[in-house]
Amino acid sequence: MTDVPEGRGVLVKVLRVGVDGTDKEINAAEYGAAPPGDDYLVTGHESFGVVVDVGPNVPTTIRPGTYVVASVRRPGSSIYGKIGLQDFTTDDVYYERGINLLHGYLTEYYVEDHQYVFPLPATLAEVGVLLEPTTVAEKGVNHAYEIQRRLKVWEPRSACILGSGTVGLLTALVARLRGLELTVYSLPRKPNRNAELIEELGGVYVSSQDATLAEAAAERGPFDLIFDATGFSPIVWEAAELLGKNGVLVLASITGGDRKTEINSDRINQGFVLGNKVMVGTVNASPHDFRTGVDDLIKAEAIYPGWLKQLLTTPVRGLENYEQMIRELTENRDAIKVYVEVGRNGS
Ligand code: BGC
Ligand code: ZN
Repeated sequence: MTDVPEGRGVLVKVLRVGVDGTDKEINAAEYGAAPPGDDYLVTGHESFGVVVDVGPNVPTTIRPGTYVVASVRRPGSSIYGKIGLQDFTTDDVYYERGINLLHGYLTEYYVEDHQYVFPLPATLAEVGVLLEPTTVAEKGVNHAYEIQRRLKVWEPRSACILGSGTVGLLTALVARLRGLELTVYSLPRKPNRNAELIEELGGVYVSSQDATLAEAAAERGPFDLIFDATGFSPIVWEAAELLGKNGVLVLASITGGDRKTEINSDRINQGFVLGNKVMVGTVNASPHDFRTGVDDLIKAEAIYPGWLKQLLTTPVRGLENYEQMIRELTENRDAIKVYVEVGRNGS
């Protein structure tokens, strides 16, 4: 607690930690870095825990017993960090707990400054570990709307989400909760669990093995919002070509490779010019995105009860089963969310 100055510290008992593709890359030594002076990195950036103790200057919205999720990125030297928007950092070096230069949450307890700790209602005890990946979807969608304020009367009707992994599914949820018609375009053929989850939201699932994205757009479009969460960069240029007039294309896949592809550059360029279209990248999330994320998880439980829980396919019991965690993450093709049950509330 004394690690955090001015009585702002929150001591959190970790209950669950989710893992994702970023952890897979860190484990393969393809991404991330240890804190200076350490030759190891404690991973885990998708946390969920319960507050054990608070410093004297922590707001009363965070008390012992409150469920919390901590954010991932911390300020560096850019001006954005100074105003709490380190998700927009222009620094080449960025600080992310469990990913880059800061230890993460796969530990029994952590201490954090209250400004990075977000409270959740007890009704989200079961699914709160999904908040951090939800914030990645929230930031992309929130910024699509923010950008479209330029249009004064933007009334989006139809969203297309590319990819049906955890972020794709959560973005599909967020789009539905914004009242959009939903199409999800992804590789696996039906029937599959992820496609069923999309249908439970009232969306339409299209496999890329059954239709091209152009065919999906002809049937279901024009798309006002397209959000890429595939990890497959060539699809982005197909999406750019099909985006509706005045539409926004949000890119959220971190593609570490050096893949090249041929694109219809004249057509894409002309469509963007004549159609006033926008393409925007998004990473990480701000405090606002954590708050809209909590709101959307609450809404999801009310409107689609039990839906979020179905994403929690693959629990791993205890920190000591780290190797199983890595195995599920790298080999279990059917898993949606792999997460570690680190501790229990109360004991
Ligand atoms: C995390 C984000 C992070 C990004 C880049 C993602 O897996 O969820 O919080 O900003 O990786 O490191
Ligand atoms: Zn992540």
